[in-house]
Amino acid sequence: MRWFTRSTNSEYLTERRRMVEHQLVARGIADQRVLDAMSRVPRHEFVPESQVPYAYADRPLPLGDGHGDGRSDGQTISQPYIVAQMLEAARIGPEDRVLDVGTGSGYAAAVAAELAHRVISIERIPDLAVTAAATLEALGYRVEVITGDGTRGWPDAAPYDAIVAAATGPSLPSAWVDQLAPGGRIVMPVGRSGGAQRLAVFERDATGGLHETNLGAVSFVPLVGDGGWPEA
Ligand code: SAH
Repeated sequence: MRWFTRSTNSEYLTERRRMVEHQLVARGIADQRVLDAMSRVPRHEFVPESQVPYAYADRPLPLGDGHGDGRSDGQTISQPYIVAQMLEAARIGPEDRVLDVGTGSGYAAAVAAELAHRVISIERIPDLAVTAAATLEALGYRVEVITGDGTRGWPDAAPYDAIVAAATGPSLPSAWVDQLAPGGRIVMPVGRSGGAQRLAVFERDATGGLHETNLGAVSFVPLVGDGGWPEA
């Protein structure tokens, strides 16, 4: 947790409002609850020290400072627009229970926590999970961070109204389908990391059928695990 003077904090508020207008509203994000959530969450608190000046830039940022032990190397905090697009597509309501797969920095989990009743977030890299849990707690976000393979879901808190994944898998993990509530939404990238990927929305109807919508081409790190890609 870093501490800032009052004036510095208001500079971030200005940057955040600009991010919402120029990166989100301008590109068609229309859900007011998502826009409000993104204008509240202090993204600069979730990035490594070296990335703070770019916290509100229109791109993904590295999760490691590049001088750690390398375990989080290559992982990124998603571009603000992508976070907004995924959470808008997940149509998260104030009573909803959400499973966030790939905690990373914890930023997307914090935005989800602004929208939902309960957020469970799973991260496979223990160091990232520990750091994210500490950041979320320091900022007062009640997110339950779990270390493990998110492709198995988290049956203890199922069923979920929404499952949102920030890593790209070969296909929809069957555990997520099993743990999805009727009417629930799964938003995940599908495809190979470094190759063709699409952002998919799977929606469960009242009779249990799944309907897929394609939101277009994206670029994510791999979803590694039982229901994802094998470890490199
Ligand atoms: N939502 C994050 C972005 C994280 S990037 C944020 O806002 O910062 C994707 C993350 O998914 C990485 O941290 C990676 O370690 C994690 N990941 C990959 N496969 C996973 C799996 N099977 N279960 C849980 N996390 C996984």
